[in-house]
Amino acid sequence: MTASHASHKSITAADVKAAVEHAYEQVRTTTGGKNASYIPYLASVDPNLFGISVCLLDGTVISVGDSTHAFGIESVSKVPTAILAMREYGAVDVLEKVGADATGLPFNSIMALLLEKDRPSSPLVNAGAIAACSLVEPVGDADAKWKAIVDNITELTGVKPEVIQELYASESATDFNNRSIAWLLKDYGRIYDDPDLSLDLYTRQCSLSTTAEQLSVMAATIANDGFNPVTEKQVFSPDLAPRVTSLITTVGFYERTGDWLYKSGIPAKSGVGGGVLGVMPGMFGIAAFSPPLDEAGNSVKAQLAIRSIMQELGLNIFAASRLCVCECSSARSRS
Ligand code: GLN
Repeated sequence: MTASHASHKSITAADVKAAVEHAYEQVRTTTGGKNASYIPYLASVDPNLFGISVCLLDGTVISVGDSTHAFGIESVSKVPTAILAMREYGAVDVLEKVGADATGLPFNSIMALLLEKDRPSSPLVNAGAIAACSLVEPVGDADAKWKAIVDNITELTGVKPEVIQELYASESATDFNNRSIAWLLKDYGRIYDDPDLSLDLYTRQCSLSTTAEQLSVMAATIANDGFNPVTEKQVFSPDLAPRVTSLITTVGFYERTGDWLYKSGIPAKSGVGGGVLGVMPGMFGIAAFSPPLDEAGNSVKAQLAIRSIMQELGLNIFAASRLCVCECSSARSRS
């Protein structure tokens, strides 16, 4: 038998810190992209804000730039609520009720729903995210459902998020496309609570504030089989973690997901607030934030920064050598 070519990389916290700082300096002056403008509040956010955070699986958080600046979580909120639906219903039921497929179409595509009306495709596109909000228990009780959504995010990040009221008002006043999606789901029997109630929960969760640091902890919790390395609590069952990462892998960047994976080698989820969360299972969670977006709604600088860090560390989820365990970040025991 020949020896395996797979090598085990050993990466220290110092290596990660150097890569994060280098990426920040490299990308800081990039000027491409534009703030989202279809939600008026987002157009007014300072486009120069830029932060990066990496949370290692020993709970160490390495940050640079505006990593504690609060911004609108937007579609990154689809990840925690998918987790919540899985916690409440199990992975099999969520697959049956919502789906786990890529759409190849924009995040708010009605066409995607028309083409696959038996299921909203994935909890990480608008249709599936609204369906996931409809599933959250207790069905029919908006206040209790909202509490469950916020509590779940609090467990995943370790910090209780607040609604950015101006963003919520701005988004609620302009969400005509999403309203159409909610009612089409009703027509197809694919929404599991009142459509307007479900849409409002979705809009509110998109309007929650977050930071790059908080998202890196959420990403690390997914990378760490549901065990939050900062709060040291098991948030969700380990068997759900690969399912969550598979959803992120399939459709995290919508119609640009394939390009993103091909170029970066890390499953990641974006939001039109400018946040991106990336998951390297068994290694770390990463997040970057910068408001200007490309045409698919993904932060330009966040993409460049995460790609730079992955490249500098020599990591790729699809490479044999990815099976390394950071010396610095071996997962804490779960007992
Ligand atoms: N709230 C936004 C919407 O539904 C979220 C979109 C996104 O971040 N991609 O349009």
